[in-house]
Amino acid sequence: MQKTPLLISGILKHAASAHSDREVVSRLVDEPLWRYDYLGLARRAAQAAAMLRRLGVGPGDRVSSLAWNTHRHYELFFAVPGIGAVLHTANPRLSDEQIAYTLNHAASGVLLFDVSFAPLVARLRPMLRSIRYFIVLADRDCYDAGEQPVPDYERLIAAEQPLDWPTFDENAGAILCYTSGTTGDPKGVLYSHRSVVLHALAAGLSGAFDLSAFDCVMPCSSLYHATAWGLPFAVAVNGCKFVLPCDRMDGCSLQELIRSEGVTLSGGVPTIWTLYLDHLERSGEAAGTLERLVIGGSAVPRAMAEKFQNRYGVTIRQLWGMTEMSPLGVVATPTPRLAARGQAATDEVIWTRQGRLQFGVELKIVDEDGKELPRDGESPGRLLVRGPWTIERYFRSERSALDAEGWFDTGDIATLDGDGFMRITDRSKDVIKSGGEWVSSIDIENVAAACPGVKFAAVVGVFHPKWEERPVLVIEPHEDAEVCPKRVLAHIEPHIVKWWMPDAVIFDQVPLTATGKVNKKLLRERYRDHLVR
Ligand code: ADP
Repeated sequence: MQKTPLLISGILKHAASAHSDREVVSRLVDEPLWRYDYLGLARRAAQAAAMLRRLGVGPGDRVSSLAWNTHRHYELFFAVPGIGAVLHTANPRLSDEQIAYTLNHAASGVLLFDVSFAPLVARLRPMLRSIRYFIVLADRDCYDAGEQPVPDYERLIAAEQPLDWPTFDENAGAILCYTSGTTGDPKGVLYSHRSVVLHALAAGLSGAFDLSAFDCVMPCSSLYHATAWGLPFAVAVNGCKFVLPCDRMDGCSLQELIRSEGVTLSGGVPTIWTLYLDHLERSGEAAGTLERLVIGGSAVPRAMAEKFQNRYGVTIRQLWGMTEMSPLGVVATPTPRLAARGQAATDEVIWTRQGRLQFGVELKIVDEDGKELPRDGESPGRLLVRGPWTIERYFRSERSALDAEGWFDTGDIATLDGDGFMRITDRSKDVIKSGGEWVSSIDIENVAAACPGVKFAAVVGVFHPKWEERPVLVIEPHEDAEVCPKRVLAHIEPHIVKWWMPDAVIFDQVPLTATGKVNKKLLRERYRDHLVR
């Protein structure tokens, strides 16, 4: 058989020839809505690649972006790896020091940024060691705080002829993402062309995103966070219309695009969909063309899934993954055996499991001694993974990140059942151990989130003189909601075992991390002594 290398440029060439007229639509920071098709995307990406080459960017060199979900950022997803260089998608939600750390660690020579990041770039500049060229992703020059003009992307690429994509080894590095680094420095994960292409093929399958050329897809996870779950590549493989919302992920702005562009599928972390549901409830609007939502990054509250499906007719699929897995791990989709048990039983499993085994990702759970645990849906253990789009070692690390048999420890605690469904009970660093026994924060949060008036619910373990740790529940209520600790406790009591009942209910704003998840580390620090005060 032919040894055609699996290259990202191959995805673009395919989209331009098989799905040439499918549209790509993009919101921009302060420009009107942009609209073109995959043919247009292919042409401009090849011009951007020519521009980067002119700047001296060569195979293996790193190029960084600080950008939202826009068509220009999307072009870089092809332009940079297309010439054998590596696109580092910096996460603007990290602290200044952490962003500078990732840019320096990547040793990028070029930084392309959205105009809204000009003040951030001005602050970072004195800390950056390797950037030779700054380019603003806009159609006009941008003057940064130092009054030095930064050339604009549009003018630079307009001067170029599209280049022909070179061929090289499919194992070459393509995209570099850093984990958000809630503990220690952010760690780089370098995806290869081969891993990106295989991941894109798998993401489109019916057991995952179930994509077709009839879909209109809007990614509401950020392009800079694990490549928005690989959607930019999966949509181009499948010829879906692609709608990029820039940074406007509030419920009202998303609804506008869903309606005007006919979005059928979207994906993002639960917090975004909490805000969207809030919008639908306040405005009394329907979810329009939206058929499916893939939600992941943290546990999907059961009440959210139920409301979307039963009230708005939107099917929910939960996804579990991580930056180290490109990021697709498992997606919750029904099986014939499950369906035979009826809709209610199917919903119950789909809404409460993180997902089901996919081709390309092997899973196993082990106890603290590394011994494999039974797939009985009950024994929780450390979740290990293995596969062609799972990390081998962190960027620039000398050491493999795997055990002797090639397994990567995800840091999650999970159960697996005989049908291949996986359920996360906790992240190992968030685990609550009370009197030596595990309390599942996710299970308590799930029930608490369904209490009327609750917007966000987070459970953390805090110090307790007798039990070492006890769970406390932090609630952020909806505006104007009438909810009190007593009512929340009465709501959860029938649903969880007695000794899991939180020792305190605290009303506070729930802080989020750079990737839109609940910042449990901060909550733990804030309430460490809450039970001994
Ligand atoms: P970061 O650590 O920067 O947030 P990731 O996005 O890679 O980066 O986080 C991966 C982690 O997110 C997983 O290890 C898991 O703990 C959590 N996670 C992802 N999806 C889910 C899900 N559906 N349910 C529960 N936890 C999830």
